[in-house]
Order: sequence, then structure tokens, then C-alpha cells
Amino acid sequence: MLSTNALLQCVCCGRAKPMYDYAPMTNICSICTGLSAREAANMARATTIAQINLERNTKDGRKIKRQEDKAAQYATTGKKCGSCHSVKPAGDYAKCAPRTDGLQQDCKACNNMKATLLRTGGKLTDWHKVQSALRAQNDAGSAKSGM
Ligand SMILES: [Zn+2]
Ligand SMILES: [Zn+2]
Repeated sequence: MLSTNALLQCVCCGRAKPMYDYAPMTNICSICTGLSAREAANMARATTIAQINLERNTKDGRKIKRQEDKAAQYATTGKKCGSCHSVKPAGDYAKCAPRTDGLQQDCKACNNMKATLLRTGGKLTDWHKVQSALRAQNDAGSAKSGM
């Protein structure tokens, strides 16, 4: 025998209600059962949205939200590369899940350049020289265009 004190969440309105509010074998409460199909669908949609918002309020949820916000921002402004200081679309950066925006700090071109340089016997100090040359070039360019 189920306790009548137990609460069951209505799949339609999302409210937790006592068992006796439900017809046997259903998880739609007596109030929602009385709604028209359209009203019930709207209610169920609102419940789903509320649950998504609740999930987003967790640590992971907030991280996903931040990455989405960043992605939206990059879609209009682009992301500034940490190495060459060039502003590029998000697609020019490799994915990196642990970072706030889910992307690597340096653009793919810089990563490739650095990898090639090091592979062909270059040193990290050589890369830093290339890096400052690129920065000087791009910073001067963005200063001219007023960015
Ligand atoms: Zn309900
Ligand atoms: Zn770069």
C-alpha cells in the first residue's frame, strides 16, 4: 500500500502533488487531466523549460551557459588570439573543454606555426620572437581601424 503522503511530480504542470491527486497508473494530476490537449501541451512545455533552467543552475549548467554566451559574443566580435593578437572567428580556434569559453587561447594558425617551428629545431625563445612580431603587426592594424 502506497503512502498517501508520498508526492508525485505531475509530468504536465511539474508540481509535486500527493498520490490521491492522480488517477491510478497516471502521472498527470487531476487538474491537468481536465485541461484541453492544447493547454496541457503548453503546460508541459513550460515545465520542460523550467527544468532546463534548473539544470542550468548547477555548476556544469552554468559552465555550458557561459560557453554559449561566449560563442554568441564571438559570433559578432570574434576572439582575440593570445599569441598573435589577431581577432578571429571561433572556428579558427581548437576546442578545449576545460577553458571558460571551451576554446584554446591561441588560434590554430599560431598553434601550427609554433609546432612547426619547434619540430624544425626552433626554440621556444624563437617562437616568442615570432609571437611579438605578429602582435606588433596586428596591434598596429587594430589601432588604425579604431578597434
Ligand atoms: Zn498537473
Ligand atoms: Zn594566433
